[in-house]
Amino acid sequence: MLLSRCAWHPRYHGYPLVEGVVSWAGWGLKFTDGICPACVIRFRTEYRDFIERRQPARETPRRVA
Ligand SMILES: [Zn+2]
Repeated sequence: MLLSRCAWHPRYHGYPLVEGVVSWAGWGLKFTDGICPACVIRFRTEYRDFIERRQPARETPRRVA
């Protein structure tokens, strides 16, 4: 059995979130790490400054000889 959990949830919300069952196959219990919509918003907000700060540098024309 494969469960999808939010890898960012403990960090942002203080408790883990299991989003749902990905696969019922198998008798063991496995986890696959993803990110839930709530944490995507938190993640984007947190990193927006960082990403926006990087963009001008990325747009700087680079001359290749
Ligand atoms: Zn989450």
